[in-house]
Amino acid sequence: MLEGYSELGDARIGIRYVEGEGSFAERAFAALDAKLPALTSYFEVSEPFPPIRVVLVPSRDEFDRLVRELLRVEIEVPSHPARIAQPQRTDMVVLSPSAYEKHSAFDYVPAEFDRLLVHEAVHMVEEFLSPDIEASPGWWGEGLAVHLSGQSRYEDGFRKAAVAAVAAKAIPPLGRVLTDGALAYDWGWTVVQLIERAYGRERIVRIVRECADGDVLAFLDESAETLESRWRTWLVDGGLEEPSDEEETDGTARPGLVDGSASDPRGWTRPSETTV
Ligand SMILES: [Zn+2]
Repeated sequence: MLEGYSELGDARIGIRYVEGEGSFAERAFAALDAKLPALTSYFEVSEPFPPIRVVLVPSRDEFDRLVRELLRVEIEVPSHPARIAQPQRTDMVVLSPSAYEKHSAFDYVPAEFDRLLVHEAVHMVEEFLSPDIEASPGWWGEGLAVHLSGQSRYEDGFRKAAVAAVAAKAIPPLGRVLTDGALAYDWGWTVVQLIERAYGRERIVRIVRECADGDVLAFLDESAETLESRWRTWLVDGGLEEPSDEEETDGTARPGLVDGSASDPRGWTRPSETTV
């Protein structure tokens, strides 16, 4: 199925790529190599984490073929131009930046490519630890991935909807954020960020490891109404993390990983009009 692909990497991270894509393959490896330890540290993964395999594909056709044949994930064909990465367990199929111009809605920005890979790796760690990933709500999975990859801090494509809505006093009801899949990318991270701030990283880890029915709020010590009020106040008071030039280096802190994926294992696509 991967005839013609070369491989680079090590025992933890393998990158498959075709001729001419070596530099992007090296970049993909470097991005994951740099951030995976912080990510597994954040989630206190003491179990051996299985090897991650990234397949860097050179075209939309090849992306669709491998998502279906290798990952066995059903997607529309041709898939949406905003889909550039698809994870499944510890595999991910990623459209090479060399194909962005012709086959995607994105322009290549190196740091964003790095964050995209980390975003997908967050999904992998969540799936690895979760008692039932299928029950994990979209806002939670995407919120974790957007927050921990750093996309929410550094990329307008993820930040601007929430920042603009807060400024315009047009924050949606929390109930919508938690149920409307279309808001998962734009708003999920704000709730994750609040939970991390208010309850600490440990609570995030506990929820990922123990929440089996999708009821994330049941792990918080307050009613949905109180949480909503706290969330709104926090947003209006400027609680959202600001972009920073400093990458965190403390492995026990939030990974400071950053980048954006346009798709997730549940088959959602970030609306292309929100991308940059
Ligand atoms: Zn995602």
